[in-house]
Amino acid sequence: MRGFFFACAPEIASTRAMQTLFISDLHLDESRPAVTALFFAWLQREALGCDALYILGDLFEAYIGDDDDALLVAHVADALRAVSDAGVPLYFLHGNRDFLLGEAFAARAGMTLLADGSVVALYDHPTLLMHGDTLCSDDVAYQRARAQLRDPRWQQQFLAQPLPARRAFAAQARAESTKHTGAMDRSIMDVTAEAVDAAFTASGVDRIIHGHTHRPAIHELGAGRQRIVLGDWYDQGSLLRVSIQGVELATLPLADA
Ligand code: MN
Repeated sequence: MRGFFFACAPEIASTRAMQTLFISDLHLDESRPAVTALFFAWLQREALGCDALYILGDLFEAYIGDDDDALLVAHVADALRAVSDAGVPLYFLHGNRDFLLGEAFAARAGMTLLADGSVVALYDHPTLLMHGDTLCSDDVAYQRARAQLRDPRWQQQFLAQPLPARRAFAAQARAESTKHTGAMDRSIMDVTAEAVDAAFTASGVDRIIHGHTHRPAIHELGAGRQRIVLGDWYDQGSLLRVSIQGVELATLPLADA
């Protein structure tokens, strides 16, 4: 009996750890400290023991460059660093809010930057990871703005401006984005079937995980294709757990912080 007990215990521990976690669209901002507190508490409680943590963009509500001296940026880097220092691989791909997050922040946090549209094997299941904004192809005005903001020359000029000027630009861009999305039909802000189909075909995988639309769901699309959408962190925390057993979307109550 004694031998059985000792043989069994580590197995239970490793089964619990065998999951990979996905989050996106936290939109961390000084104006919502309860969400930041929930995120930090969750990192300590759950992320510390996982196989890997993937952040699929819009970790920050706004991001003006790795040289930003805001306290929030430093605190987030430290909180992520504690997880990566514990041996958990951290991966990040850019959202439409934090596309200027660069190698300096990634190194500080202990994260690896992934290209939007990377394919990774999750317990041998190849999966396409995206932020999701490129799937919203009906929003022509946004796609045009995106092309400009992702232009390396534009980014270089922007990052050369002093921090206060960049902060002012970011505030204005957020106000315009609120106006734009507020005036738009909700269906235009969702993915299009054509863009999703093209992503499946180009990548050759049968599973996509993305965020951005703030419509958490697991869509079974036929032919074994699955599109998993992560939720946002406005009124609760939101995450996806992936293990050998399957996938599970979950929420975290804000009161847990
Ligand atoms: Mn987004």
